[in-house]
Amino acid sequence: MICNQRINQLFNLNQLLAWKKLPAPLICEQCNQGFEPITGPRCQGCGRTDTNGALCDECIRWENKFGYVLHNQALFHYDEAMKDFMKQYKFNGDYRLRLVFESQLKSAASLIECDLIVPIPVTEATWRSRGFNQVTGMLGNLELSAAISTVEREKAEPQSHKTRRERIQLEQPFAMVNKFKDELPEQNILLIDDVYTTGTTLYHAANLLKSAGAHKICSLTLAR
Ligand SMILES: [Zn+2]
Ligand SMILES: [Zn+2]
Repeated sequence: MICNQRINQLFNLNQLLAWKKLPAPLICEQCNQGFEPITGPRCQGCGRTDTNGALCDECIRWENKFGYVLHNQALFHYDEAMKDFMKQYKFNGDYRLRLVFESQLKSAASLIECDLIVPIPVTEATWRSRGFNQVTGMLGNLELSAAISTVEREKAEPQSHKTRRERIQLEQPFAMVNKFKDELPEQNILLIDDVYTTGTTLYHAANLLKSAGAHKICSLTLAR
């Protein structure tokens, strides 16, 4: 699905003797090996691996600002291979690629204790151009609660001494979906997004859910 090369599937003896239909691989071994799983000690806030297990500076700032960290779990490094994959999936809109990491994301989600799983939504503009939400796409038949939606940013830029980038970081891009308002109090929530970059998106979502009464919030992303 990624490089379009023919897959020469090799079977081991157990697979041959099991005498049942084997799942066809979606990507070849070479493409598969291009992705680097995140292993070993990592920051307990965001999942980065260069802090020898300590909370990183970014997460210390989040903790000082909001009083908590998300305990984000990320499956893969956001390296060139993953960036290329995301480009092909999201920006070229190759919806088949949602299947490549589906089982890994779903099994990671199933190991995290929570009451509700909330995917990060995409904007109306993205829906119109891409036609799908890349996050929910990768989660298959997992039971999701679309508790937050995006809000359209004001077209007119308000007068402000802050830079555009600063304003965007401060603005809450999400709103609660009404029918979930009563479901959130005291619930443990798992937020899922495709990539953890600065954490801004996930903390906006988490803060909104907390203000609606959610108890504990953690997050899972495909890449970090
Ligand atoms: Zn390949
Ligand atoms: Zn961190």
